[in-house]
Amino acid sequence: MFIRLASKLQKDSIVDGEGIRAVIWTQGCPHKCPGCHNPGTHDYNGGFLEDVEDLKKEINTLDDEVGVTFSGGDPFEQPEACFELAKYIHSIGLNVWCYTGYTYEQLLKKKEKNSAISNFLSEIDILVDGRFVMKLKSYEIKFRGSKNQRIIKVPESLKSGKVVIYDCDEKKKKESKKKEIYI
Ligand code: SF4
Repeated sequence: MFIRLASKLQKDSIVDGEGIRAVIWTQGCPHKCPGCHNPGTHDYNGGFLEDVEDLKKEINTLDDEVGVTFSGGDPFEQPEACFELAKYIHSIGLNVWCYTGYTYEQLLKKKEKNSAISNFLSEIDILVDGRFVMKLKSYEIKFRGSKNQRIIKVPESLKSGKVVIYDCDEKKKKESKKKEIYI
C-alpha cells in the first residue's frame, strides 16, 4: 500500500500537538481555505508516493517522540493508508494526533458510508478539526490556526456521542500545581 506525501517524515516537532512529535505530511486537500499555510499540499497528484511499510520502518526508529501527528493536506483523503499507519503507531506505544479540514460532525457522517474513515477515526487520540478561517486566525491558541478549530478527544467523543474537548492548558495548570505541591 502507498501513501501520497508532501514531504518526508518530519521529526522533533513541538508545534503539531503535545510533546515532541513526528509529523506525516499527507498530500491532497479539497478544502482550499483562503490563507492556507500549506497550498503546495492541495494537488492530489503532487508530492510523491511512499510505501506504507517503509514509513512504518522509519517510524519505528523514532527515539524522542511521544507520538505522531497526521497533517497535510487532509489525511482523511487517504484513510486506508492513514489507518494502517495509525494502527502501527499505536502498536509501538506512541499516540496519534490528526489535523483535518473536516469538522468532527462531517467525519461522523462520512464514516457511515466509508468504513476506512471509521477505521482511521477509531485510531486517533486527538483530532484538530475544521477549516482554517482567516478572520478567526489567532496566535494565542495552542496547536491551532483559527479559533473555530477544536482539539477533540476522539475515543471519549465516540464513546459518549458528544464532542469532548481536550483542554491542553488545563493539563498544564494541573501539572504545575502538582509541582508546587512537591516543592
Ligand atoms: S484544510 Fe489545511 S491544508 Fe487544506 S486548505 Fe485548509 S488549511 Fe490548507
